[in-house]
Amino acid sequence: MAFAELAAISFARSAASIRPVLDRALGGARLTEAEAIALIDCPASEFEDLLAVAGELRDRGKGHAITYSRKVFLPITNLCRDRCTYCTFRKDPGDPGAWTMMPAEIAEWSRRGHELGCKEALMCLGDKPEVAFKEYRATLDTLGVRSTIEYVGRACAIAIGEGLLPHTNAGLMSRDEMAMLRPLNVSMGLMLESISPRLRARGGAHQAAPDKDPALRMKMIDEAGALRIPFTSGILLGIGETVAERAQSLIALRDSHERHGHIQEVIIQNFRAKPEIAMASAPEPEAYEMARAIATARLVLGPAMNVQAPPNLSPGEIELFIRAGINDFGGISPLSKDYVNPEAPWPHLERLGERCARAGFTLGERLAVYQEYINDEWLDPAVATNVRAIWERTRGTAS
Ligand code: SF4
Repeated sequence: MAFAELAAISFARSAASIRPVLDRALGGARLTEAEAIALIDCPASEFEDLLAVAGELRDRGKGHAITYSRKVFLPITNLCRDRCTYCTFRKDPGDPGAWTMMPAEIAEWSRRGHELGCKEALMCLGDKPEVAFKEYRATLDTLGVRSTIEYVGRACAIAIGEGLLPHTNAGLMSRDEMAMLRPLNVSMGLMLESISPRLRARGGAHQAAPDKDPALRMKMIDEAGALRIPFTSGILLGIGETVAERAQSLIALRDSHERHGHIQEVIIQNFRAKPEIAMASAPEPEAYEMARAIATARLVLGPAMNVQAPPNLSPGEIELFIRAGINDFGGISPLSKDYVNPEAPWPHLERLGERCARAGFTLGERLAVYQEYINDEWLDPAVATNVRAIWERTRGTAS
């Protein structure tokens, strides 16, 4: 079925023109929640207009440059106390494939990543496994730490010692935990996923995931801003949220960024079905749904925001997502797979660069902290010198 036909079927219920909203966005207006919902749910006949305005705003803020971060993915532990129904990453202790990386493994992977030109060490792990599993508490005892987050701090120090810049996404963290990790990280992250509390209700994707409470996640995102931590967040499409809730999630992130100025990038990520998950038969978001969400994000968040879509989750839609207003592809690794979506290989950087060039864009490397946050307000002195040195080298390589 043609793209336009699909769009017409799914979005036929909206009839009002979004032209006034597009004009307001072009004029720099702060959009309301109702306007954001109108954009993401616009008539199919105005889909191309939505993309054109999103592209124009992206060009104003970012030009024709698309970025990515060369990273090594360090899955410190895949044990997790939550049970999101779309997740293949999490394990219980004793499950086949359950692991906790030991310090020597963290050092080895970091060293290999550095040798392959990686700058970012992405610490990605399950949420609070020590709360649920006594076997894991024994592992932490053996490692000489009292919590997973304390162990992540040690992992960050190892990665820094190997020449990398850590970015931690360890699930829901307290203010004190983030403050402890700040001198060891150049940025941190937590996907909002969705502002909808319905997903925590019976039968919802987050029913058995207490750390996915949207109010708790927004609290952490705000606290990261108060701590002056450059922060990555985003939304996950296709986990049971409505189209309006996608727009409301973007508005919530925009409002937090207005309070603190700390959200360095917003990821628009699509759910991918896998045979082994409870949501195996749930429909994946269509490409045009992703494009609508990306374009709405650009209009809500403005020209200065970095808007990202992971290229490995939609390899056929790179050009569409560029038209919809992205300016970043996120982390891409020459060494480690995407442990969250292991079936989705990273794109070959040269091929990705060629596709960008054909669309009229350059592909360039950035760090795990965006250039606009490389200053004394946002970086702890403990990591700032490393960041500046690596950034100068990266810029020198790119030019
Ligand atoms: S998505 Fe994250 S929080 Fe949810 S089960 Fe998987 S690892 Fe745990």
